[in-house]
Amino acid sequence: MILLKNNHEYELMKKSGSILSQTMNFISSLIRPGVSLDIIDHKAQMFIMDHDAQPSFLGLYGYPYTLCASINNEVIHGFPTKEKSLHEGDIVSIDIGCNYMGYHTDMACTFPVGVISNQRKKLLSITKQCLLNAITQAKKGSCIGNIAHAVQQTAEDQGYAVVRDYTGHGIGMNVHEDPQIPNFGEKGKGSTLEVGMALAIEPMINEGSYEVKVLSDKWTVVTVDGSDSAHFEHTVFINESGTEVLTEYNPGGLA
Ligand code: MG
Repeated sequence: MILLKNNHEYELMKKSGSILSQTMNFISSLIRPGVSLDIIDHKAQMFIMDHDAQPSFLGLYGYPYTLCASINNEVIHGFPTKEKSLHEGDIVSIDIGCNYMGYHTDMACTFPVGVISNQRKKLLSITKQCLLNAITQAKKGSCIGNIAHAVQQTAEDQGYAVVRDYTGHGIGMNVHEDPQIPNFGEKGKGSTLEVGMALAIEPMINEGSYEVKVLSDKWTVVTVDGSDSAHFEHTVFINESGTEVLTEYNPGGLA
């Protein structure tokens, strides 16, 4: 069942998204060669708590950290551990959620670490474009299939593949609510979008095959062929006049 949000809930989600967006901006200042991922996780947790909010992912389904940090061929759900550090030329996908007074927002961004290859720059740029194109389809009277199709077409036009095993989702009092938002599909199919829906749209794009697998830690998802993967996500709200991006941080330098 898709839960529509009232004005009060919208205001809480807007505040939640603002805190999360600021958190991502703060995280961007920590990304550099040599930093270990536990430092980023810890500082992000402190930042959220200093803003009277809680990290949504910590404890969710037993997940043990504030954020997910997935490097290069890792797609999603990478652990931000002390043993893992960033190296010049890496790309790292940071996925994080914020709970403000019981209302969640969710966002992800893939960052370059130092100077990255043109190949990786393009993957980041196109994945971000997948998200932006999807958001233009997220409006009253549109449907889930239009969002899904926009992601798929943008990625496949460039020879990339969309991850099929994981999807975007509705969001609100729970991190994951209906509807599921696949990153592939047909125009005109799926639930119709209505005012009051809050959606986490999150293309996960692989340079090679769409196939992914879960590592023995039972969390980290990697590409089967070892190719790079990128992930961008915003939480958006459908209103009368269009779509409001609640997690509006939009890092530059990715083009
Ligand atoms: Mg999400």
